[in-house]
Amino acid sequence: MVNSNYTAESFDSIVQLLLEKYKDWDGKAQFTDTPRRLAELYNEFCWSPEKIEEELNKHTRLFEDGYDEALSTSEIDVKTLCPHHLLPCTFKVTIKYKPNQKVLGLSKFTRIAVILGKHPVMQETYTRELADTLFERIKPYMVEVKVKGTHGCVQYRGALQNVEIETKVSRGSCDEKPLIVYSGEAKL
Ligand SMILES: [Zn+2]
Repeated sequence: MVNSNYTAESFDSIVQLLLEKYKDWDGKAQFTDTPRRLAELYNEFCWSPEKIEEELNKHTRLFEDGYDEALSTSEIDVKTLCPHHLLPCTFKVTIKYKPNQKVLGLSKFTRIAVILGKHPVMQETYTRELADTLFERIKPYMVEVKVKGTHGCVQYRGALQNVEIETKVSRGSCDEKPLIVYSGEAKL
C-alpha cells in the first residue's frame, strides 16, 4: 500500500454512528467490514503532502532534446474527492506545453496529473496546482492545463445534474522567451 495512515479503527465511530439508526435492521451485518473498506478508500485518495511531494520528485526527470514545439496530451482520467463533501470527482485533464531545451518523459504527464489528484481538492485548485507544478519543474516556454470535471456533489445532491465544469490555467507564453531560463541540472 502506498500510504497507510488510516486503519479500520479510524472509521469505527463513524460506522457506529450510522448503525445507531439501524440497530434493529437485519442488514446491519453488511457494515461489519465497512470501517476497513473506508480506511482503504481514504488511504487511496488522501495522500499526505509529503507523500505527494516524494512521488512528484520521482516523476519529473527531464531529458535533453532539441524539440521546442508545442506538445499536447489526449484526455487523462483523474479520480479524486471534493474537499467539501468527500464525494468522488472525475477530471478529464489535457496538458499542452512548449518545452525549452529539455522535455519531460511522455508517461510522466499522466503520473503527475494522477498524483496531484491524491488529496481532496477543488477543481479550480487542482487546475492551478497542476499548471504551477509543471511550469516550475519543467521550466517550459508555456504550459496550459485544461480540466473537464464532473462532481459527485453536483450529481447526487443539491443540483442533481450531470453538468461538466471546465477550468483552464496557463503559465508563460508560446511567443516569448520563458520567464525562467533553464540552466544546469534540475534540482529534483
Ligand atoms: Zn463537494
